[in-house]
Amino acid sequence: MARIELDHIRHAYGPDPKSDADYALKEVHHIFEDGGAYALLGPSGCGKTTLLNIISGLLHPSHGRLRFDGEDVTELSTQERNIAQVFQFPVVYDTMTVYDNLAFPLRNRGVPEADVDRKVRETLEMIGLAERAQRRARGLTADQKQKISLGRGLVRSDVNAILFDEPLTVIDPHMKWVLRSQLKQLHRRFGFTMVYVTHDQTEALTFADQVVVMYDGGIVQIGTPAELFERPKHTFVGYFIGSPGMNVMPASIEGHLATVGSQRIELPGAPVVPPQGKTELGIRPEFVRVGSQGMPVSIAKVEDIGRQKIVRATLEGREIAAIVGEDEEIPAEPRVTFDPARISIYANSWRIELGV
Ligand code: ADP
Ligand code: MG
Repeated sequence: MARIELDHIRHAYGPDPKSDADYALKEVHHIFEDGGAYALLGPSGCGKTTLLNIISGLLHPSHGRLRFDGEDVTELSTQERNIAQVFQFPVVYDTMTVYDNLAFPLRNRGVPEADVDRKVRETLEMIGLAERAQRRARGLTADQKQKISLGRGLVRSDVNAILFDEPLTVIDPHMKWVLRSQLKQLHRRFGFTMVYVTHDQTEALTFADQVVVMYDGGIVQIGTPAELFERPKHTFVGYFIGSPGMNVMPASIEGHLATVGSQRIELPGAPVVPPQGKTELGIRPEFVRVGSQGMPVSIAKVEDIGRQKIVRATLEGREIAAIVGEDEEIPAEPRVTFDPARISIYANSWRIELGV
């Protein structure tokens, strides 16, 4: 396993990149610690696969260096980097048996046959294909084939890292959950450095210790699931994480007061540095209280989500969501308040610090 260092990495697919817009991957300067479980999370097209392929060596970055445990591997092939990668769609040898598909990467490296057998059996159990070990891969369903691909990634224990690129796309929902839990267990047991690409926040938040949120070719925040929830550094993280995402509204800030439309909202502190540019107030639906106190809203609809309700309302002409308990009464003339400690202030989309 290795510590992976991305040293000022950038990538453009086209020749002669000039402006930022020409880069599929803007500057990434970051370290993946040895043995960490990371998720790269972001919408389609934000550069996740590009970054993963640069780590594995399928792609040579336009700028920057990549190091494993301090050693420069930028010019090394995928083989030489000793990386296992699992792709979105299955890559299997159709004419081989399921067993041989898993044994292949081990035999290729001259692992003694007794060890091959032990590892392959263990992995077959894990992916739930033990009964089909002697079947040819050709006849299997897409999700069984993808389990073979996953197995091929997991069967080796000598790799520097295991990279997953949306590996559960073709797997049915229940099995998704099972495989994800197994990956997590495996990580705990063997301490592989794992980088897992997904556009699904549930997958990212349940799998990873550290979630790397990507947006438009860059990393906007790296943090634990709790940090991303509590202190979104960028409004994009606020929107993208959480269900529904954070409420973000234009606000003017003066000292410890924010003004939204005609409403004044007390902040927990004044900005440490006066904010420049476009200023906004962010509050997660979990921290919006609905009752008879505060700012008047009109309610558009209430969605029942089991033990809670999502209240969709309009505040000062803008949509706002609140999450309330299933038994909470909503008054005829509803008003909302924000938990002051949970308010974030953004200037040009980036969170700013408030003093006390
Ligand atoms: P993601 O995996 O997050 O969906 P990608 O890394 O695949 O994003 O793509 C990032 C950007 O780079 C996108 O705008 C995509 O269109 C572009 N891109 C990806 N692969 C290529 C390629 N081989 N040639 C040119 N542009 C590409
Ligand atoms: Mg991708």
